Amino acid sequence: MSIAIYPGSFDPITNGHLSIIRGGLVAFDKLIIAVASNPKKTPMFSVEERTDMIRESAPEPDRVEVDAFDGLLVDYCKKRNARVVLRGLRAVADFEYELQMANMNRHLYEQMETVFIMADDANFYVSSNLVKEAAKLGGNIQGLVPETVATRLTQKLAKTTGG
Ligand code: ADP
Repeated sequence: MSIAIYPGSFDPITNGHLSIIRGGLVAFDKLIIAVASNPKKTPMFSVEERTDMIRESAPEPDRVEVDAFDGLLVDYCKKRNARVVLRGLRAVADFEYELQMANMNRHLYEQMETVFIMADDANFYVSSNLVKEAAKLGGNIQGLVPETVATRLTQKLAKTTGG
């Protein structure tokens, strides 16, 4: 059975991520979506909230596992017995960072491969950060994130702004 790990912050999951997940399910038998619990930036949502939102919106629960990890991705891959990491590419801006990460990971674990999938054109420019910024400023984020995420974002912003 072919397995790939799709790691990321998923703060929160967007339709761009979902497009990568759908592509990953064409290429692999099973995907492990691995939520990074120690991202560089302070996340808006806790790991539990982020994993819940993925579970609520990802397709094919029998082929998609959602988990959290901290520490090095290569250590998590070894622990899960997986050698393929799935990442998504948006506009060219992602390329350099992703190339550095893929090379660093291969340096740390030479049997590891990173596979890239491109989002469909409707979701090419969607990012968690832009969605959060737009939502904070009162913009309409329908169609960019799953329904459950839009609802939770509104609730979270109402709490943080005291509204
Ligand atoms: P990270 O903090 O690890 O970059 P993200 O949740 O921002 O975590 O992204 C996880 C992966 O999903 C990255 O490879 C990113 O390029 C990819 N991704 C996110 N949004 C999109 C999108 N709209 N199209 C293609 N890939 C995407």
